[in-house]
Amino acid sequence: MSSAVITGIGELVTCDGTGGDQLGIRLDAAVVVEDDMIAWIGGAAAAPAADTALDVGGRAIIPGFVDSHSHLVFAGDRATEFAARMTGRPYDGGGIGVTVAATRAAGDDELRQLLAARIAELRALGTTTIEIKSGYGLTVAHEVRSLQIARQFSNETTFLGGHVVPPEYAARREAYVDLVTGPMLEAAAPHARWIDVFCEPHSPHAFDGDEARHILKAGAAVGLGLRVHGNQLGHGPGVQLAAELGAASVDHCTYLDDADVEALAAVADTTVATLLPGVEFCTHSPYPNAARLLAAGASIALATDCNPGTCYSSSMPWVISLAVREMGLDPAQALFAATAGSAQSLRRTDIGRLVVGSRADLAVLDAPSYLHLAYRPGVPIAKALPAFAETPAE
Ligand SMILES: [Zn+2]
Repeated sequence: MSSAVITGIGELVTCDGTGGDQLGIRLDAAVVVEDDMIAWIGGAAAAPAADTALDVGGRAIIPGFVDSHSHLVFAGDRATEFAARMTGRPYDGGGIGVTVAATRAAGDDELRQLLAARIAELRALGTTTIEIKSGYGLTVAHEVRSLQIARQFSNETTFLGGHVVPPEYAARREAYVDLVTGPMLEAAAPHARWIDVFCEPHSPHAFDGDEARHILKAGAAVGLGLRVHGNQLGHGPGVQLAAELGAASVDHCTYLDDADVEALAAVADTTVATLLPGVEFCTHSPYPNAARLLAAGASIALATDCNPGTCYSSSMPWVISLAVREMGLDPAQALFAATAGSAQSLRRTDIGRLVVGSRADLAVLDAPSYLHLAYRPGVPIAKALPAFAETPAE
């Protein structure tokens, strides 16, 4: 066992749920880490000795960001598609096929190296837990390969065979749903904790409510937790379906009516509304009203949805800036959603907060206060303390 005492903390944001803003901020605090766990939090003057000491020189420390929605296992480049969209071409989910072709053509080592570089990038921006979806393979072998590679970097892996119907199945959707819920699920499940589906009747490439229900129930039957891409491109059945099936998270929630907000509030203990404002930014879409969700009593999370089509950013600080600027959250609500909220969406109690017994997943800010996350958009002030970032069990 090795221990470290961290002192000189300008502001310790614990996100332990206390205080008027739930951030549980402590001043003049020190933290003792033993191996990868938090062993002690208290006043700096009373800090016990440890094997090593780290003085962070008045910087703020926060829980490492929990990025609960990403699509990081891919090859290829879609920058020209982004440029076209910025000049007026709308998004319908069809560009995913470009990434599927490039990902299938890539070698194992190439995919692993691309993923490793993206993981290094997000850690350098303060993220300590990353959920990673498959969904750019869309054959049994390619989905399994994506999940196996993802598992080398995170335990939070999600089977997304139900991302889009691949072109070779365009004329026989039922056969593809049979594949996803049959042989593909069977092969993928040992490498995944979650199953997800792109439930979006507004896209000809994605899945309607009945197809999504069938895919999610098949995943639940083999023990996977449920996540849903819902209500992204227009009002649809995704949110209600996630609430009905007890999904841990329904993500996007761009288009919500009153009944959707009521449904999310009613299941706030089980189902989190994960908001992905980077996607609205990168697709010229309207932002969901996060303040309305909180006022109704829903649980919310923030994540990047880092993916090559609709948001190629791994920056949780930028997401926090957008949530504050565009979605009605104050900086404290946004930080809580990006840490404790997204931990809840992964049904984790050991991350997203800094309390004794939790994982020592710390991020240090090159600033005296968490307020700088929203105050300094685009500036990389957050960094995961590298010794304490989560490493997968296998
Ligand atoms: Zn996504």
